[in-house]
Amino acid sequence: MSEQARKRQENLAAILLNLHYGGEMQRSQLSKLCNIRKSSVTNLIAELLEKGLIAESVPGSIRSPILIAGGSSYAIASMVTAHEIITAVVELDGTVSREEATPLGDNTPDAVVAAIGKAVRHIVKSDPRKPAGAAISIPGAVDPSSGKVLRAVNLSDWQDVDLGSMIEEKLRLPVIVNNDYRCQLWAHAWFDREIKKADNLLYVGIGEGVACATMMHGRRIEGHSHTAGEIGHVKGGSENRRCKCGKLDCVETYCSIPAICEEVSALPNVRSKPSTAADIASLGAELPAVANVLDRLSGRLAAALAPIMAAIDPECLLIGSPSPEFSAMLCEPLQRHIRGELLGLNASTASILPAMAMRESTLRGAGGLVIEKLFKNGGLPF
Ligand SMILES: [Zn+2]
Repeated sequence: MSEQARKRQENLAAILLNLHYGGEMQRSQLSKLCNIRKSSVTNLIAELLEKGLIAESVPGSIRSPILIAGGSSYAIASMVTAHEIITAVVELDGTVSREEATPLGDNTPDAVVAAIGKAVRHIVKSDPRKPAGAAISIPGAVDPSSGKVLRAVNLSDWQDVDLGSMIEEKLRLPVIVNNDYRCQLWAHAWFDREIKKADNLLYVGIGEGVACATMMHGRRIEGHSHTAGEIGHVKGGSENRRCKCGKLDCVETYCSIPAICEEVSALPNVRSKPSTAADIASLGAELPAVANVLDRLSGRLAAALAPIMAAIDPECLLIGSPSPEFSAMLCEPLQRHIRGELLGLNASTASILPAMAMRESTLRGAGGLVIEKLFKNGGLPF
């Protein structure tokens, strides 16, 4: 690519990213924000209008505010779990406009690639628009730069699976592979109006397991071996509970949804045993003893999260789980315990907020990764 073409692509990207983060604005504002001459902005905007990626709120007027156009392109997001693949269409504004589940007979790499291939082809065939790309969320250690799954214990113990290339070859579409918790964080950092301007974020997800995802200075943190945020397997107690990783007393054995369900089921006065986060939330609204269980687990989680909060000083800690009601119930006890752990540190004043339901944030976040890449590429295929 020539120097001139590269510069043009950079300017197109600056316009798309400023509109995404800043909302609608006029050409003159974009010229100032992106530091591009007004005549060039007009020319670049004409190209993006032509592509359908942006629109004028007053069509044909040179003074009209410009905004990202909703329906011009879309991302495909696939969420892999041990038993099924959920595939969704994510629009440029983060709306999930279509979602389908494909049950998995077994979860070997070949079976997963075949199921994703089938679901994606089905979507591409029935949508007249051209997709910007596809993203796959995986419960395990992933290197997003190569698309490789390094390890996924819940998926018949995958090791070094070149998932990105396998799917790209099948679909002839650009494919991004990332970890599920990082997708969940990204859904908020990329789409959530209140949160997307935050540069430093910490997300903790409580589901079948427990893990974190972190963003610093606007960048997702992967870590040296791509396992940053795996707090589910640090020590969380001393009751000799066996973890599925083979070790004893991991945070997951105390704070995952199955562990909490077991603890709540053992309480007196619990007639119907909970099996989901939503069940725990509805029992928690009735029984003070359930609130005590949540308080104890918040103490354990706070002990694991506090050093991370002290290290990164986030603006916000997001709590994710399959049920926003359950996540909301953890905000107050977790805040209290984190303040107790962090004493006078500034990080103790970070706001603690419930996240979207995990399935929604996984799909929207995966879609958001594709849209981010599309915009950073100036709206060109990547
Ligand atoms: Zn463990």
